[in-house]
Amino acid sequence: EILTGDKLPFFIAAATKEEATDFEVIRIPQTKLDAALSAVKTNLPRIQRLKAKQEEPTACETCEYCRQTKVLSGPIWEHDIIFDI
Ligand SMILES: [Zn+2]
Repeated sequence: EILTGDKLPFFIAAATKEEATDFEVIRIPQTKLDAALSAVKTNLPRIQRLKAKQEEPTACETCEYCRQTKVLSGPIWEHDIIFDI
């Protein structure tokens, strides 16, 4: 981009660690890259406050860390569970 003024196409080369490896080269459109960069810029002030421990993080309740540190606070309703069928 510095030399030509044009943004080059962006690709991700990915392979799984399964016994029968699956692999792809995935092209990411510039519009998605621009949107992701915009989201990072929007979220950066909060991330900086979190790193400085000026703000408490919000648990997602789905990642490995949240599962490892989960504390039951009471029963949930059956409709709170999301089924993947
Ligand atoms: Zn989490």
